[in-house]
Amino acid sequence: MTVRLEDVTVQFGQTVALEGLDLTVAAGETVALLGPSGSGKSTALKAVAGFVRPSRGRVWLGGRDVTGVPPARRGIGVVVQQYALFPHLRVADNVAFGLKAARKPKAEVARRVAEMLEMVGMAKFARRYPRELSGGQQQRVAIARALAIQPPVLLLDEPLAALDAQLRADLLGELQKLRREVPDVAIIYVTHDQSEALALADRIAVMRDARLVDIAPAADLYATPPTAFTASFLGGAN
Ligand code: ADP
Ligand code: MG
Repeated sequence: MTVRLEDVTVQFGQTVALEGLDLTVAAGETVALLGPSGSGKSTALKAVAGFVRPSRGRVWLGGRDVTGVPPARRGIGVVVQQYALFPHLRVADNVAFGLKAARKPKAEVARRVAEMLEMVGMAKFARRYPRELSGGQQQRVAIARALAIQPPVLLLDEPLAALDAQLRADLLGELQKLRREVPDVAIIYVTHDQSEALALADRIAVMRDARLVDIAPAADLYATPPTAFTASFLGGAN
């Protein structure tokens, strides 16, 4: 499903967190938002998820204007650091939540939950509560929950940041697999890690000071950085 942000501006009081963002992510495409801390990456993602309301501009999902639609009614998968698991639900029930909401048959829910927990290496923790897990484990469950519903749009905000190198590599592989197996999913992937952006993204959007400064296929961006900022950002040890 296509995601389109049209001239999206988000302000918090005097702070302009996002300024006039125009971005279209096609069905089947992965775009990485890459940039320094505070450049507006998370805010852009939250505007698509519906966690923040643009002060200007519109958000479209598959041709539907969702600018005023609450997050739960956008039907998209979200993994953001602030979007915690349901504390009163066991791990398996957290992962099952969206499937039950979509009224999937019980057997299918059970099968899918087991599959997802296996994928993120959390099968042994199905009966635990979120408070009984480490931060990295909770993040893995959050990823399982987001992928369980096979969402047409997937929003990931630094999803691997809290994980160790091996798990990072595993989950990166799983995300690549997801892209092959669910060909129409549109993914927006926020990261400050260039290697993740390169591994996953069809295009990389470079953000700076609330604005998108460059957007291009990864190889082009590295071969011929369109701006001095992008050249120095990609050249740096980010
Ligand atoms: P990034 O994800 O690229 O690190 P953010 O989108 O989180 O950047 O933030 C962009 C700017 O907006 C920063 O200056 C940040 O301090 C500010 N900001 C983000 N969220 C809020 C908020 N809820 N209230 C006030 N300022 C915010
Ligand atoms: Mg952020």
